[in-house]
Amino acid sequence: MAKPKLTPMLEQFLHFKHQHPDKIVLFRMGDFYETFFGDAEICAKILNITLTTRNKNKENSVPLAGFPYHSLSSYLPRLITANQKVVICEQMEDPKKAKGLVKREIVDIITPGSIVDAEYIHSPADNYLTSLVQEGSEYGLASVDISTGKFSFTQLQKENLTAEIERLSPKEILVLEHSQKEELAECLGNQISYSQYEDDQINIGQAETILKEHFSLLSLAGIGLGEHPLATKAAAMAISHLKELKKNDLKHISKIEYYSLGSCVQLDKSTVANLELTKSLLEGTTQGTLLQVLDQTCTPMGGRKLKQWLLRPLMDQEAIENRHNIVEEMIEKIEQTFALRDLLNQIGDIARLTGKLSSGSINPKEILAIAQYLNLSEEIKTILDNFDSLPLLHIQDSIQDYQHITAKIEKTICTSPQKLITQGGIVNSEINPELHKLHRISSLGKSWILDLEKQEKEKLGIHNLKIDYNKIFGYYIEISKRQASKVPEHYIRKQTLVNCERFISPELKEFESKVLGAEERIKELEYEIFCQLRTYLQEKMEQLLEFADTLALLDVYANFAQVSFHRNYCKPKFNQEKILELKDSFHPVIKELLKAQEFIPNDIYLDNAKSNIILITGPNMAGKSTYLRQVALSALMAQIGCYVPARTASMPIFDKIFTRVGASDNLAKGQSTFLVEMLETASILNFASQDSLVILDEIGRGTSTYDGLSLAWAIIEHLHHSHMKGVKTLFATHYHELTHLADTLEGVRNYNVIVEKEGDKIIFMHKVLPGKALQSYGIDVAQLAGIPMAVISRAKEILQTLEDSQAENKKVTALAQLDAFSAPPAKKIPPYLYQVEKELQEISPDQMTPIQALQVLSELKKIVSQDS
Ligand code: ATP
Repeated sequence: MAKPKLTPMLEQFLHFKHQHPDKIVLFRMGDFYETFFGDAEICAKILNITLTTRNKNKENSVPLAGFPYHSLSSYLPRLITANQKVVICEQMEDPKKAKGLVKREIVDIITPGSIVDAEYIHSPADNYLTSLVQEGSEYGLASVDISTGKFSFTQLQKENLTAEIERLSPKEILVLEHSQKEELAECLGNQISYSQYEDDQINIGQAETILKEHFSLLSLAGIGLGEHPLATKAAAMAISHLKELKKNDLKHISKIEYYSLGSCVQLDKSTVANLELTKSLLEGTTQGTLLQVLDQTCTPMGGRKLKQWLLRPLMDQEAIENRHNIVEEMIEKIEQTFALRDLLNQIGDIARLTGKLSSGSINPKEILAIAQYLNLSEEIKTILDNFDSLPLLHIQDSIQDYQHITAKIEKTICTSPQKLITQGGIVNSEINPELHKLHRISSLGKSWILDLEKQEKEKLGIHNLKIDYNKIFGYYIEISKRQASKVPEHYIRKQTLVNCERFISPELKEFESKVLGAEERIKELEYEIFCQLRTYLQEKMEQLLEFADTLALLDVYANFAQVSFHRNYCKPKFNQEKILELKDSFHPVIKELLKAQEFIPNDIYLDNAKSNIILITGPNMAGKSTYLRQVALSALMAQIGCYVPARTASMPIFDKIFTRVGASDNLAKGQSTFLVEMLETASILNFASQDSLVILDEIGRGTSTYDGLSLAWAIIEHLHHSHMKGVKTLFATHYHELTHLADTLEGVRNYNVIVEKEGDKIIFMHKVLPGKALQSYGIDVAQLAGIPMAVISRAKEILQTLEDSQAENKKVTALAQLDAFSAPPAKKIPPYLYQVEKELQEISPDQMTPIQALQVLSELKKIVSQDS
């Protein structure tokens, strides 16, 4: 088929499209952004706009879809959320004045990981672009949030990569090679946008030069980059990619922070998911998560920091205790803390405004907002005078005097400035004598026109004569057609409408040029003054970002204090004996969700040897999973520096927290329920240490009963005996057979969640007590759920038959073993077993119930093992 002949305008479009084949080109045409060809099809689908055809029925027809230019802020986020990258191509001249094709240029490129404008992000959370460089099994990783200037990097092993990426949840990943994109997309999914670096490689020399230039440094050693070559390359890639994309020197990214995964508690992907730290398992929203319950921060900066802390609990006891001590003092002085929060509540996203300042997209209202926020710094300092703890005093010291900045802003920008920076109405006229004079001319001109209107009405006797203005004719005199005979000769007719005619006069034109000239000059001059102020503020960006970070810290501490105070959390203590003891512990999220219903608090005790593995049995719906998770959440909350949901809490410092739940599947990745369960369990058995906390919720249930039971059994034994001996484990199960492990393994203890039965009804007590559960009440729970009675009755019958035959089998085995045991040579029975002997004599084996047979057998086995 012959290629359609394209119009010059479409040729121009293709010129830009060829430069950015992987992005949607929004091509400005008058009052619309238009998209063509494949872009139009994608946009029509994502934005739900009409897909039409340009040059319909002609040989050069092409698909077209567009939207009004003023709706960009509502359409753009939808494209970005759908992981599209967007190029904005603007008209660079007035189409009416243009000779031939209108000149157009790319003015911005927006990708999911390079958004500066908070308006397009729609979330206060960090918005990272993460770059990766791989060498063998090692990765260099750097993450930049261009909207706030946060830039951090690390070097890590391949096995930790997915967890780290999940934690950062970047919106875009930058890689060197195409194949890496595919590999990552396969394990991380398509929720993230991928980009390839301009070159397919970067050497360490180039990387160092890029970073030294960006940070104006002679050496990178001071910022920890020199020692981590892969991370250095990743950081250089990220910054140079963003600079190229944004055509901006990104001076607000003035700091880079190294972090090591080893210094924080490791939480893998499924632990973060299963503990529902930031996203709920069912809906994937923050509803019902720990983050939602803990986050009562007042500022977006505080909200972001809280989330970072939540996913990166500390391991350094001193650093954690520093945080606890600050929270303690803030609780002790809760009134001052409330006052501090009142001030913080008045502060918006200074970090993101600084990002906009750097990109030049900040508007005058936003600059005024910066001044307003900075003005609160003195009051914040004064409130901090009430506190004594050293870290808080350091924070207070870091708040500088920003008066010179706020004074300059307030002197320059007028009280209610316009949003646009090129149309005037943004600057205080007193700041500049010329501007002042121009404003006088402009306002005098307006009153002169009113005077002229009055004079002409009187002189010509036309009471409805009016002087008005439009963009086409400028000022004009409007006279109704009925009064046309009174129009003087020197009036020049410009337009005839249905009921009236419009004229200009030489006098009006002369004055108009003066007034309009003044107004044009006002716009120019105000824009110049605004740009000077913006440049001045761009030099203060580091100070602004430091203030933003200080506010974030104060906000998180005050938030911990507020939440802990209102919800009766307690200050945790750390012990060297590695005992985890919580008294009256509760689940921070479920307790909030239950609202009117009472949450039953429970205790937990785990030590290093005698009680390090707890097996929890109990009916369905009793509260096993809740109990397990509340322990893990308490440990995590303690290590992020928050108080803990319990009456008292003493614990060790954990190096890793694992939480696995049996039977969850990942069909999208082609992994069956059971495989996922085993993969996750394998990672615990391979990576947990003596200092880890392991939560296993019904592991083994994804396969047949005996396979699952055997695996669960062997897993517990392995946790008990192996290199990680002492690892604190909570294991909830419906395999009641596992409870026998407490008889043979020293560190294993049985706990059960009790229920009471009133007639046919079961009552959940939600109380966890030592001992084992005898049954699961699964059928009773099914009945509660509304399973038809016919099914319930039949299930009860089947259960009875199964239990009878199982008991009978056990009895037969036990009796056979008893026979074997009593056969010569006879064993010597020690005195403490006289009771057993008596029972043996008194009850003939045939009359024994299965339970009695098992009890006797178990005692006898003990004798045999002691003898041997
Ligand atoms: P299953 O074995 O069926 O998975 P489970 O024993 O793990 O059940 P959970 O899912 O932990 O039970 O709890 C069921 C419900 O019981 C919770 O959603 C909560 O509403 C309630 N619950 C759990 N623990 C408590 C408690 N300590 N106090 C009050 N209500 C509780």
